[in-house]
Amino acid sequence: MPDYDVVVIGAGLGGLSAGALLAAQGRRVLVMEQSKAIGGCCSTFEREGYRFDVGASIIEIIEPIERVFEKLGTTLQKEVDLIACDPIMSFIYPDGERITAPLSVEETGRIIASISPEDGAHWDEFCAFADDLMKVTLDTFFQMPAATLADMGAIIKKNPRFLKFLPVFLSSYQDILERYFRDEKVLKMMAYQALYFGLPPNLVPGPYAMVPYSEHVGIYYPRGGMIRIPEALQRVGELHGMQVRTGTRVSKVLMEGRRAIGVRLADGSEISAKIVVSDINAKTLYLDMICAEYLPTAVARGIRSYKLSVSVPMIYLALDESPELEAHHSVIAVSPEELNRYYYDNLLTGRLNEGPFGLICWPTHNDKSLAPLGKHVLNLIPQGFYHLADSDWDSEKPHYVERTIESLSRIAIPGLKDKVIFAECATPLDFERDLLLPEGAIYCLQQDLTAQAVFRPATRSKSVNGLYLVGSSTHPGGGVPSTIASGYIAAGLIEAHER
Ligand SMILES: Cc1cc2nc3c(=O)[nH]c(=O)nc-3n(C[C@H](O)[C@H](O)[C@H](O)COP(=O)(O)OP(=O)(O)OC[C@H]3O[C@@H](n4cnc5c(N)ncnc54)[C@H](O)[C@@H]3O)c2cc1C
Repeated sequence: MPDYDVVVIGAGLGGLSAGALLAAQGRRVLVMEQSKAIGGCCSTFEREGYRFDVGASIIEIIEPIERVFEKLGTTLQKEVDLIACDPIMSFIYPDGERITAPLSVEETGRIIASISPEDGAHWDEFCAFADDLMKVTLDTFFQMPAATLADMGAIIKKNPRFLKFLPVFLSSYQDILERYFRDEKVLKMMAYQALYFGLPPNLVPGPYAMVPYSEHVGIYYPRGGMIRIPEALQRVGELHGMQVRTGTRVSKVLMEGRRAIGVRLADGSEISAKIVVSDINAKTLYLDMICAEYLPTAVARGIRSYKLSVSVPMIYLALDESPELEAHHSVIAVSPEELNRYYYDNLLTGRLNEGPFGLICWPTHNDKSLAPLGKHVLNLIPQGFYHLADSDWDSEKPHYVERTIESLSRIAIPGLKDKVIFAECATPLDFERDLLLPEGAIYCLQQDLTAQAVFRPATRSKSVNGLYLVGSSTHPGGGVPSTIASGYIAAGLIEAHER
């Protein structure tokens, strides 16, 4: 008899969600995490009494997360103290003007109308489109596999309205936005969110253009830090018998013919299992841990052809007083074209742009428990990528942190540099070393149209029996709700196929 029914490689959101759901099915599950802590990109670390989120900074589109906790016999709200964020985003324009979007759809519509009456008139129409699209994708894409044409058929059968949105998949995020809005200032309130998917607005598939609306349905911060979500999955999973081992690195998937039969750990020991679930980058999984000898040539070539997603640096600041900001999230407002240019002229050439833009997360705006009394934390996602043309991240890091604080003080947050108690930074290289993300790729694989649904590595491996993928590498892609949904989809497939 194998040591476990299921071994899971990686305790990120996908691994924990699948692990907990499989334990709830009555299976003996072991989740192995190479780092000392669980959570991967959705975790929180502490320094000198300040708590910083490693990567993910908020949750939105919470329905798939609620579904997982309900399946586990509890509720998300019971397990995690969610703080609703309102306002949802503040946009800081180069001339110093700030526009802050409240949670209210109607109030946001009035703000847009005050900038451009014509665009204001289209806001309701855009919201109706995005709301419909969101409901259809939540009913299908976030619950069902999408690896084969039969899967796509099942999606359409479950919700025929999905067909109506097929042309949207062939449009870009930018196409959709520009169908409704013309004014540059208004577009600058909606462009940056394309980067949540790791690509510029002209390459992100159209359905993601629902995000400037979906944020108004609700964005939340878990009190105590983003780690509260993986912690809750672990806690509830353990109640169902799931075991989690940290500091345990998997080095190989053991194979017997075309079947995965367990894993070998970095210390050489082996653990046998009926099913292997992988929450790590699919390229590492197939090409390094399984090896081409077990894969049909075309499959190995196909896996090699996937492009890695973007990476970003994170700067973590402890502040001795409140920053001059208005919301949990602020962005330096940029147009779709500026983001497209950044992608082609900077990211693809490895040249950092001196003009700052990026996301500013101020979690102590909503959750004072993250810092000593009266103090604050700020997590910055400035411009940056893995490959640097003229430098390397280890030598670049101190200057990069200094330059970013300096330019943000000048352009967006007056007096910031005088409030900094200490600064830490995780570069793309640090993410590669610490979380074993190749090239620091935060969504594992690029998320353009060529790597979606049937084109993304399948949840139920098509070439290795008994192997299932969860997390950013597989459907429905990167992000907190998507990776938690991937665990739900994998657990459903395992229930159906592995009696
Ligand atoms: C900077 C940043 C900002 C983000 N912001 C947001 C946001 O605001 N909202 C949002 O929805 N999403 C956000 N995301 C994305 C979101 O955090 C991720 O998509 C999601 O957390 C990834 O989950 P995952 O299951 O794919 O696994 P990961 O988080 O990648 O975890 C995989 C785990 O596997 C472990 N592992 C790797 N190799 C091995 C091995 N050989 N053996 C054992 N363990 C191994 C790793 O240590 C890691 O803990 C952000 C991500 C980053 C990095």
